[in-house]
This record gives sequence, structure tokens and C-alpha cells, in this order.
Amino acid sequence: MTDAPDQVYLVGGGIASLAAAVFLIRDASVDGNDIHILEGSSSLGGSINGSRDERTGFVIRGGRMFEEHFGCTFDLLRAIPTLDGSSTVTQEILEFTREVLPSSNCRLAVICQ
Ligand SMILES: Cc1cc2nc3c(=O)[nH]c(=O)nc-3n(C[C@H](O)[C@H](O)[C@H](O)COP(=O)(O)OP(=O)(O)OC[C@H]3O[C@@H](n4cnc5c(N)ncnc54)[C@H](O)[C@@H]3O)c2cc1C
Repeated sequence: MTDAPDQVYLVGGGIASLAAAVFLIRDASVDGNDIHILEGSSSLGGSINGSRDERTGFVIRGGRMFEEHFGCTFDLLRAIPTLDGSSTVTQEILEFTREVLPSSNCRLAVICQ
């Protein structure tokens, strides 16, 4: 991009803004320091936020389906290194999903006749 904006402001801290930020850095060479995400609530992540409580553990809003055919998502996350820098977030998620099989009883349905 030849006319890169000085500053980019994204409204909302959900996956849409977070993904836009990654594409701006990766594909449009925008400096991450020039991207500002404006979030109205006290937590980032929007519908896929989560929280940690030292006493009760981790909480997410629902069971998440992360399957190997999510091509665009994995392409996006492949551009993000893991915290220790040894791999990519895509690789980390696929390995975790193979190790810890998802199970969500709340999605079970009972058919009454
Ligand atoms: C329980 C649950 C399970 C789901 N499971 C799946 C799944 O398995 N697979 C899947 O693909 N999708 C799933 N989804 C859907 C997916 O999570 C959403 O489509 C996606 O997260 C939406 O992202 P978004 O960034 O567009 O919006 P949001 O996540 O809604 O983020 C918008 C953010 O903008 C903020 N905001 C809004 N207005 C303003 C403002 N004026 N100023 C500042 N901040 C503002 C909000 O506080 C929020 O944080 C699930 C959703 C839920 C709730």
C-alpha cells in the first residue's frame, strides 16, 4: 500500500477488529503501533471473550468449533506466533484440539414424540 494511513482506528474489540489489525500489519505493512482498537466494554474479544478467575478457573461463553477446514481463520492465525515464539497459533490450536477432544453436552438435543 503506497498511501498507508497515519493511524487506523477500529471500533470494537471482537474478532472482526482483531482480524483486521492482523491483515493491516501483514498485508498492508501498517505498523501495529498505529492501529488503535476502541472497545466499549471492560474486556477484549467480543463474543469470543473469556476470563480467568484464580479460584474457579477459565470461563468462555460457549463450546467453540475449530475444525481443520476453517481455511481463512487458520491462514490468519498462522501469521501470529505463539507466546514462546516456537510455533504459530494455528499449529498450537490444531495440536490442542487433537489432544483435548471438544465435548459440549449443552448442544445435545432430546427429541420428544
Ligand atoms: C456462545 C457463542 C458461541 C459461538 N460459537 C461459534 C463457533 O463455534 N464458531 C463460529 O465460527 N462462531 C461462533 N460464534 C459466533 C462468533 O463468536 C461471532 O460471529 C463473532 O465473534 C463476532 O465477532 P465480531 O467482531 O463481528 O463482533 P463481536 O464479537 O460482537 O464484537 C463487537 C465488539 O464491539 C464492541 N462495541 C460495540 N459497539 C461499540 C462502540 N460503539 N464502541 C466501542 N465498542 C463497541 C462490543 O463491546 C464487542 O466487544 C459463537 C458466538 C457465541 C455468542
